[in-house]
Amino acid sequence: MFPFFVSLHFMKFLNKNMIVYKTPEEIEIMREAAQIVSRTLGKVAEAIEVGVTPLELDAIAENYIRSQNAIPGFLGLYDFPNTLCISINEQVVHGIPTNTPIKDGDIVSVDCGAIFEGYYGDHAYTFAVGNVKPEVLKLLEVTKECLDIGIAQTRAGNRIGDIGFYIQQHAENNGYGVVRELVGHGLGKTMHEEPQVPNYGRRGRGKKIQEGLTIAIEPMINLGTEKVKYLADNWTIVTADGKPSAHFEHDVAVVNGKPEVLSTFEFVEKALEKK
Ligand code: MG
Ligand code: MG
Repeated sequence: MFPFFVSLHFMKFLNKNMIVYKTPEEIEIMREAAQIVSRTLGKVAEAIEVGVTPLELDAIAENYIRSQNAIPGFLGLYDFPNTLCISINEQVVHGIPTNTPIKDGDIVSVDCGAIFEGYYGDHAYTFAVGNVKPEVLKLLEVTKECLDIGIAQTRAGNRIGDIGFYIQQHAENNGYGVVRELVGHGLGKTMHEEPQVPNYGRRGRGKKIQEGLTIAIEPMINLGTEKVKYLADNWTIVTADGKPSAHFEHDVAVVNGKPEVLSTFEFVEKALEKK
């Protein structure tokens, strides 16, 4: 979760504008929180197929998180009703799981959070289910590349703007729209801490990246326009032109000046290989 919403509505949840840098001990707890989410996404990957409902995936995720002595991180946060945000096709993020079965050709963003020993893990993967159009598969590929590009910029001495600049450049070079209204965020004892981590921006701008920074980087990239709107449920964000949107998210810590990815797609990839 939730990519941070750039609006006054959520400003009150920010930690007084201060970045909370983490000790090595805290980062180790956060790594476990992130890995619980990674394994949960692996369970979702095993189950996801044509005909499965988002609510079934949500139950799998909730049960698994609780089995790991962790707490679902999204459930009840800002009154969100479920464990997973499941956002299909033109839905960008914050989709509420429903009883509508997943169809052949859908892309399904699954965003998951867990709290372990008081710290949050928060990461997301967009699944291609069945026969997805090549142009949409390419969107997924490029969005994942954007995430890797953003991670590579997360090193001491760089600035937060460097992350967004290079993500935006890669996405726009491919003709895609970069969502402006939602951004990545600092992560720790709360889900949304400073700094905001936009997927767009200017090189050399923004706060300096320092040892102990922990952030969730989460490009949300649209096949068409960057513009988005809310659905009537006041949660789900959809693209304004109805074209698909992809979303990948990792938790990253700055350790010895370099980015260390606390979460992993390893469990998802293993599960998908077996299919
Ligand atoms: Mg998330
Ligand atoms: Mg997030």
